[in-house]
Amino acid sequence: MNIILLGPPGAGKGTQARFLVEERGMVQLSTGDMLRAAKESGTEMGQIVADVMDRGGLVTDEIVIGLIREQLETVKANGFIFDGFPRTLAQADALADLLAEKGESLDAVIELEVNDEVLVDRIVGRAAEAAAAGQSVRADDNAESMKVRLMEYYKKTSPLIGYYYAKGQLTKVDGLGEIADVKAAIAKVLDS
Ligand code: AMP
Repeated sequence: MNIILLGPPGAGKGTQARFLVEERGMVQLSTGDMLRAAKESGTEMGQIVADVMDRGGLVTDEIVIGLIREQLETVKANGFIFDGFPRTLAQADALADLLAEKGESLDAVIELEVNDEVLVDRIVGRAAEAAAAGQSVRADDNAESMKVRLMEYYKKTSPLIGYYYAKGQLTKVDGLGEIADVKAAIAKVLDS
């Protein structure tokens, strides 16, 4: 089973993806994690994307589609969780093609719904908590870049909600509840 977790930054996609990895043995493909790894290892691609990421903008379709293609070619899995990908209609089309080439299907698109005010609080709170605990804070976890990330989401990613709805693949889950409740709601979708 292959699924997409869709939702704005801070909606809890990463948290829920980790549960699915632990409990169902699925493989999480997070383009954000891949790009951060590229940035940290100082690869040429990492240097190219660093600025855009820190400002909260979207990295080019070509780069992220390339990353996903590579993973789909090399990693074997019972099921993939696409986390933070696709983020544009071009990426969604590319994913459909890549899956079709492999003879794989897309089984569900789960939209985690949250409101903007809660999101900004969550992201800024995540940065403050990490700083207090002496952990490293994501370079893009601050109010300024958060605004850009939200704007990018509404301009470029939110059209995917209509796209997957029209394909009959979208299910909405309330992302504002307790983490365990969100988890249960996702399990219900996957097991139905
Ligand atoms: P995330 O960890 O998913 O919030 O991603 C962090 C940052 O990586 C985003 O703000 C973008 O700059 C970049 N990024 C991650 N995934 C994508 C994608 N599918 N398309 C474009 N940029 C992406």
